[in-house]
Amino acid sequence: ISESRVADTWTRTTCGYCSVGCGMLIGTRDGEPVAARGNPDHPVNRGKLCPKGLSEHQVLRAPGRATTPMLRRGGRGTPLVPVSWEEALDVMVSRIGALQEAHGTDTLGVIGTGQLLTEEFYTLGKLVQLGFQSRNYDGNTTLCMASAVSGYKLSFGSDGPPGAYADLETADVVLLVGSNIADNHPILCNRLRSNPEQVLIVADPRVTKTAMLADIHLPVKPRSDIALLNGIAHILLRDGMIDRDYVDAHTEGFDDFVSFAADFTLQHVSDVTGLSVETIERVAHLYGNAKAAFIGWTMGVNHSTQGSVTVAAINNLAMLTGNIGRAGASPFSITGQCNAMGTRESGFASSLPGYRKFDSEHDREELAAIWEIPAHRLPTARGLAYPDIIEAAVAKRVTALWFIATNPVVSFPNFKLLQQALTTAEFVVVQDGFFPTPTADYADLVLPAAIWGEKEGTYTNSERRISKVNAFATPPGEARSDFDIFLTLAEKLGVKDVLYPGWSTTHDAWLEWQRVSAGRMCDYSSFTWQQIEENGGMQWGGERLYEDGIFPRENGRALFHCVPCLPFTEQPDSDFGLILNTGRTVEHWHTRTKTGAVPILNNMMPNAWLEMNPVDAERLQFRQHDRVNIVSRRSSVTNVELRITGIVAPGQVFMPFHFAEQNSNQVTLGAFDPISREPNFKQCAVRVERCRYA
Ligand code: SF4
Repeated sequence: ISESRVADTWTRTTCGYCSVGCGMLIGTRDGEPVAARGNPDHPVNRGKLCPKGLSEHQVLRAPGRATTPMLRRGGRGTPLVPVSWEEALDVMVSRIGALQEAHGTDTLGVIGTGQLLTEEFYTLGKLVQLGFQSRNYDGNTTLCMASAVSGYKLSFGSDGPPGAYADLETADVVLLVGSNIADNHPILCNRLRSNPEQVLIVADPRVTKTAMLADIHLPVKPRSDIALLNGIAHILLRDGMIDRDYVDAHTEGFDDFVSFAADFTLQHVSDVTGLSVETIERVAHLYGNAKAAFIGWTMGVNHSTQGSVTVAAINNLAMLTGNIGRAGASPFSITGQCNAMGTRESGFASSLPGYRKFDSEHDREELAAIWEIPAHRLPTARGLAYPDIIEAAVAKRVTALWFIATNPVVSFPNFKLLQQALTTAEFVVVQDGFFPTPTADYADLVLPAAIWGEKEGTYTNSERRISKVNAFATPPGEARSDFDIFLTLAEKLGVKDVLYPGWSTTHDAWLEWQRVSAGRMCDYSSFTWQQIEENGGMQWGGERLYEDGIFPRENGRALFHCVPCLPFTEQPDSDFGLILNTGRTVEHWHTRTKTGAVPILNNMMPNAWLEMNPVDAERLQFRQHDRVNIVSRRSSVTNVELRITGIVAPGQVFMPFHFAEQNSNQVTLGAFDPISREPNFKQCAVRVERCRYA
C-alpha cells in the first residue's frame, strides 16, 4: 500500500513470466518502477498476481543487469572487456561471416526464446533466414512446448490450443495430466474449483500442490500416462460412452483405433500405471459421463521422448467423446513462457510464419509474395532443432552459436554435452538482459539487452490471447532492445532496406506480421494494439477453435492415433536405483536470471532440494536435511538438502531445476522426442550419496 501511494503514474502491461498472461498495473515514480498490482479489469487474472508477478518490477533495477557489450578480445581464456556497440556488432558480423564462408551459411545456429515479443521473434526469423541465411534457428520453447505443437498437428493438422481459460470453470470434469499448475501457473489455478459441482482429477507421480487440490489424485508410475489414456479409451468404447455422431462426422481412423484400444486389458493398464482397475474405471466413467470435460497438460507430458504421441493420445479421448469446440470441453496445453504461443506462430522453428508449412509450395509462394522475395529463398524443410544444433556444434557442423535471452548452461539437459558444444564452437554470442550468467562464461561476445518493462509489443498466452506489453522504464546503461539489435545487424549485413523497409519500431514489425498472418489460422490482422490493450487482450480464432468440427487437415477430419506405451530410455538398475523427476517451484522462473535478483523470492526459496520417500531414506540411512549428492551416469549434483517426504513415491526422487549452483541438468539425460525434439527431463536413473564435504 505504501508503494502504491508513492507511484505517480500507472502503466497497463502484461506479466513477462509465465504463459497465463496476467494483466498488470505498474506504478512508477519519476520514471522508476516502484509497485505492481493485478489489473482488476483484466479477464485473465481479474486483479490477482502471484509472487513473481507482484515483484517483477523489482527485476529492472536489480544488480546484475547487463549494461555494456563485452568482448573476449584476446580470445578464449582472456577476460570479457567492455567494447562499443559499433565494435561488438562489427565483430559479430565479421566472425560469423568468416565462419560461414569457410563452412557454409548453416554453420550459424541461433536459439531464440519465448521471452521475446512476437514482433521481435518475427523480426529475428527474417534476419536469420534471409539476412544471415542460416536455416538453423529454433527457440528455447523446444525445451518446453514443442511436443504440444507436434501433438496438435498429428491429431488436428495444426497447432493451436482449442479451448479457453473459461473452460476450466465451466467443465464438469477437469483431468490434469502432468500439470502442477498450482506452482507453475498459479493464477490459472485460482480459476479451478470455482464450480462446486466440478470434479478435478490430477494424474501425477508426485503429490504436488495441484494434486492436493484434487478430488481424485492418480499417483501414476513415471511415464505411464499413455497407458492410462489408452485404458480410459478402452473403457469409453467398451461401455458405449462415446459421441458416435461426432466421431462419424468429424474424425478418421476410428476403426483402427477401436481394434487398438480393445487390446489394452485393464489389468495391463493397472500393472503399468500402478492404479487399481476400479480407479481407472471410475475416472473413465467420470470423464465419459461429463457434459463437458477438459483435459489440461503441461511438462509432465511434454518433457518426454513420447511427448508428441502422448498429446495425440489425449486428443483421442476428446475426439471420442466430442469434447472439443464447446464450452468447458477441450484438450488444452497449458503453455510455458509468456510468449511461447507468439513465437510458435510467428517464427521459423517448426513452421514458417503464420503456421505455413515448409513443404507446401503454396505456403512458401504466399509468404514470398508478401515479402517480395523469390520463393526459392525460403527453405523447403525446417533447419536443425535446438538439441540438433547443440549436437551439430559438438560435431563441428555448427561453429557459431547465438543465444538470445536464454541460459542453456542451466536449462539444457545433460550439461556435459552442452559444455562440449560451447567449447567446441568457434564463436559464441550471448544476448541477455543479465550479466554475468552461467552461459556468458562461455561467450566470446555478450550483447546487453533490454527486458520486459523496457520495450513495447505483444505476447500471446496459452488461450491464444494477444496481450499488450508496454514500456515504463529505460534500459540500464547502454542496453538496447533485442529489436534494435536485430535491425542494426541487418543494417551491417546490408539487408535492412530489403527485409525491414522503413522500420524503426516494433509497431512496424507488428503491421507486417498482421499482413503475414492475415487469413491464416493464427490471424492477427483484425486487431489494433489499442484494441488489444483496452480489451485486456484479444484471442485469435475467437474464444474456441473447431466449434464447427472442421479441422485444418486435407479432409477436415481429426485423426485418431494408436499410441503404444513404451518404457522410458534409462530405467533404474542396481547402480542407479532411483528415478529422478525435475520441475519448478512457484517462487522462481526458469534459471533465476530474473527471480534470483529479487530478494523476496530468493528469501522464500533460496536453494534447491531433493525430495525422497521415507522408505528409501530409511533403506539408505539418511536423515531429514542431510546434505546429499545426486549421481547419474553422466555427472553429479553435489551438496543438496535432502527433504524426506511422502510427496514422492518410493523409488522416485524430485529436484527443482532452477538453480545454477545445484544444477539438476548436470545429471539429466540427453534423450529427445523423435518428432518434436523436446528433451526427456522427467525421468533418468540416479543414486543418492551422502555429501562428505558439507
Ligand atoms: Fe505472471 Fe504467471 Fe504469476 Fe500471472 S501466474 S502473475 S502471468 S507468473
